Amino acid sequence: KPNVAVLAVQGAFVEHERRLEQLGCDCTELRHGADLARPFDGLVLPGGESTAQAKLLRDLGMLEPLRTRIASGMPTLGTCAGLILLAERVTADVSTPSLAGSMQDGTASEAAAEGSMTRGAFGTMPITVRRNAYGRQLGSFRTLAPFGDEGEPPCVVAMTFIRAPRIESVRDGTRTLAVVDDVPVAVQAGNQIGCAFHPELEDSNVVYERFLALVEGVRTAD
Ligand code: GLN
Repeated sequence: KPNVAVLAVQGAFVEHERRLEQLGCDCTELRHGADLARPFDGLVLPGGESTAQAKLLRDLGMLEPLRTRIASGMPTLGTCAGLILLAERVTADVSTPSLAGSMQDGTASEAAAEGSMTRGAFGTMPITVRRNAYGRQLGSFRTLAPFGDEGEPPCVVAMTFIRAPRIESVRDGTRTLAVVDDVPVAVQAGNQIGCAFHPELEDSNVVYERFLALVEGVRTAD
């Protein structure tokens, strides 16, 4: 059986575990640094609050060891906050009071935006995301869109967005797997898959199947 580690410090990790178990996986919850000693073939980074997750990862001593594994090809699925952790560049939420303030007082918004650019906690995926960028009305919404790689028969799936990050740029061979309103919402770079939406809330298994195919690939190569 494939064994998938699920980051379980904060956020929607239980929902992912349920789905992975239904699909025939064993799950290892990562709660403490010591959990990294257990064997696993893939990693899921759930939705939640990316700032809290990043702080906990650092405090628990999991950030560097996991970054090394992701960077060396461990199949990884990051959803929503998990996608933010993976992103090489993260621009601030425009509703952040300090940033909104500096924009209003006439400071060049470009400088403000640049000053607010940080690296995602892992920073392993060549994309830029903006946190909470779908606006107040659209803070949460559900839509249907095709999901799949170029050349694959696209599969239309439901996608739920909850204060989702907006993928603002995709670089260096990162592929776009799904687009909503001209904006990429699912991407893949090597063995890393990132979704702005929450596949754990939908019936469709396409996102998990894509991730588990990567996990199988690594297992058979071992
Ligand atoms: N808004 C959250 C963040 O910026 C992500 C929301 C989610 O994971 N549903 O971390």
